[in-house]
Amino acid sequence: MLLDPKPKSKSSDLFGRKRELKILIDSLSSNPITIITGIRRIGKSSLMRVGLKEINASYLIIDARKMYTDSGGAISKFNLISQLQPELEKHLLKEKIKKALKNVKGFMIAGNSIEFNWKEINISDILEALNQIRKTFIIAIDEAQYLKYYGSRGGRDLQNMIAWAYDNLENIRFLLTGSEIGLLYDFLGVEDYDNPLFGRYLSEILLYPFSDIEAISFLKKALEEANCSYKETELVEAHKHLDGIVGHLVQYGLHRLKKSHPEALEAAYKVARITLKKELKELEKRSPRYITVLKYIASGAKKFSNIQKAFQVNGETISKSRIHDALDILRKTGWIEKKDNEWHIIDKVFEKLLKE
Ligand code: ADP
Ligand code: MG
Repeated sequence: MLLDPKPKSKSSDLFGRKRELKILIDSLSSNPITIITGIRRIGKSSLMRVGLKEINASYLIIDARKMYTDSGGAISKFNLISQLQPELEKHLLKEKIKKALKNVKGFMIAGNSIEFNWKEINISDILEALNQIRKTFIIAIDEAQYLKYYGSRGGRDLQNMIAWAYDNLENIRFLLTGSEIGLLYDFLGVEDYDNPLFGRYLSEILLYPFSDIEAISFLKKALEEANCSYKETELVEAHKHLDGIVGHLVQYGLHRLKKSHPEALEAAYKVARITLKKELKELEKRSPRYITVLKYIASGAKKFSNIQKAFQVNGETISKSRIHDALDILRKTGWIEKKDNEWHIIDKVFEKLLKE
């Protein structure tokens, strides 16, 4: 079903993204680390899950954001093993995997369940055991930017482990999803010489919003599939308001099944408003200035000089370099893009909401 608020996992439910899916499958069979980046609600988790289903390899999925929330902000080895346990248990019907996991220190395997003594376990032992099976095994980590909250050293233990696996474990592959800045710059350290992963090749798939044609065909197909009648003009209007971010389109479609077109549009905006609030809270932790810059851009300050002026008009003194930094971070986090020397908010729904 296309109008499902959860990430898709069946390829028949994945609209479009044929090219990205092919690149993903090819990459997983040849690269040690593949990453899917893009802004929230663009379809990263969906592409990841469908890709894993399509490829002929064993895999497990960890949700780093969930670990972060469950742990209250500092992910421990116990949190990680607690997520690994049920994922590994799914593989115990395969004798080879079961045999390999039996050798992991700290694991007690009985029937199809695993008990563990987390203090005795080394995560690298688990990877080594999975590598011994001599078939590709994919470790998929959703919202992997949250791994920087693992342990006491900003995720360094895991960075070291992934780097070690990259160099030594030929059958282990990593598939990571996340926001571009959080994942690429903060966790994987593409520009940071001190990061253990620095210099290793990362195969990146960056997801863009649906084009105009794709967005309207998506809504058509989704509503028809759910036997909901619609007017062509409504879809054009829905797209005009919601743009090509599939998460917003799904919300409109879901509400449209039970409500009129204007009500469904309003409901989609309501959901987006809540999402934006949460996102801004995260951003604010890094610097409240980022939100100010976003608001200025949303209200029409598109050029650097306009943004600078907006600060002045509002009585705030800020250096040029600080504004450049803010723009750089907002670009890398997938909030804004530069076209013809002008800055734009990528998510048009968020753009409208930022003006409120
Ligand atoms: P992300 O992980 O980037 O936040 P999700 O994969 O959770 O995004 O997708 C957000 C919403 O959009 C979900 O409701 C999901 O089912 C839907 N969705 C994402 N990509 C597609 C797609 N290609 N076709 C149909 N629905 C999709
Ligand atoms: Mg996701």
